[in-house]
Amino acid sequence: MPPYEPILLKNMLQPGYTGSLADYERTGGYQALRKTLGKIAPADVTAMVVKSGLRGRGGAGFPTGIKWGFLPKDYQGPRYLCCNADESEPGTFKDRQLIERDPHQVIEGILLACYAIGAETAYIYIRGEFALGAAILERALAEARAAGYVGRNILGAGVTIDIWVHRGAGAYICGEETALLESLEGKRGLPRVKPPFPATHGLYGKPTVVNNVETLANLPHIVNRGAEWFASIGSPPKSTGTRIFCVSGHVRRPGNYEVPMGITFRELIFEHAGGMRSDKALKAFIPGGASAPFLTPEHLDVKMDFESVAQAGSMLGSGGVTVMEEGTSMVWAALRLMEFFYHESCGKCTPCREGSSWLVQTMRRILAKRGRREDLETLTDLCQNIAGRTVCAFGDAEVAPILSTLKYWRHEYEELIREAESLGLAGIPELVMPAAARHEPHKFEV
Ligand code: SF4
Repeated sequence: MPPYEPILLKNMLQPGYTGSLADYERTGGYQALRKTLGKIAPADVTAMVVKSGLRGRGGAGFPTGIKWGFLPKDYQGPRYLCCNADESEPGTFKDRQLIERDPHQVIEGILLACYAIGAETAYIYIRGEFALGAAILERALAEARAAGYVGRNILGAGVTIDIWVHRGAGAYICGEETALLESLEGKRGLPRVKPPFPATHGLYGKPTVVNNVETLANLPHIVNRGAEWFASIGSPPKSTGTRIFCVSGHVRRPGNYEVPMGITFRELIFEHAGGMRSDKALKAFIPGGASAPFLTPEHLDVKMDFESVAQAGSMLGSGGVTVMEEGTSMVWAALRLMEFFYHESCGKCTPCREGSSWLVQTMRRILAKRGRREDLETLTDLCQNIAGRTVCAFGDAEVAPILSTLKYWRHEYEELIREAESLGLAGIPELVMPAAARHEPHKFEV
């Protein structure tokens, strides 16, 4: 494993680092802002971010500087930046750490982004459950305001930027950028039909950029150390910089690991996260949060960059890597994820609202050993009629666990159906899944 230098987690790894303004300034904090305001033209900051190759760390991986460039240049009214801190993807917990342990790094990133796009107001939309993170951000913003980093005439450069924290109410879908904007406007958090895109019709109908916490936290480092430095890290030209991967599941050392893009899953899981927690071999892993299709041990040497993971049939998504050992029922694992998506479907469009219900019912029936052979075709058919036919990308996400487990572990579904047939239960409605069966995976080991 070659040596690497953490960038975003570096401060918090120092003993005694509290994340206070004084600590952050001691490590060079707010120097990027001092270098930039009134000294570098906003368009040049955008050009620097384009050149760095920074791509969004929230899930979609869209190039950040290019996204900023979509805002109308001649628009005279207000424009907004929204920091998406609604981290709700199962298996993902990096933004929470960045906010709780080094909030000023995020705030400085927000200020730089606001300056680049010409926004005087930014909102941090934080997941409702992150009460501690919201309190830490409020405290950090008070410190930053008192020090002249936030508010009117920042650092005497004639630039005004204010930042407000807005707590969500706990809906997964509010991590989708247009649902986030609806929620921020005080409405029910339902995704909007696109186009128009937020770049032209965003918050209150004004030009808006929505960026993820980790994406924004990279900006002070790009300004301080240069676009070329950032672009040289990772797997250039399309996957530059480091990435914080959240490793969970059956590993020895679950946690957040910041590594250069382009290391392999094997390095992340077996070197950084300590390998499997017991003598059972790795059976499966999710490479990028619950929305990403499962991968298998054959994919351990796939590079963790956007293109390589896409070629392997999945995605880096939100950076949540969940590892499962031999003995885990993949039908059970897919059902648990499907139950999450079913619960979180906002209900706006029919394929997702109705389809997720049918998928859960069919999966529960199969797992309860009451499935029929035709259920596998029904599952596939339902998934194909959801993916690509919904208002937002949630539809594609919710079918990923089922389609990928059917692809790699179809025999586990078939085994359960064979058992149902031998017990004479195939096709008999399974009305209520016993709670114990839903929550105790060992009962469904294969
Ligand atoms: Fe809502 Fe699902 Fe439709 Fe997205 S795909 S808008 S979550 S119902």
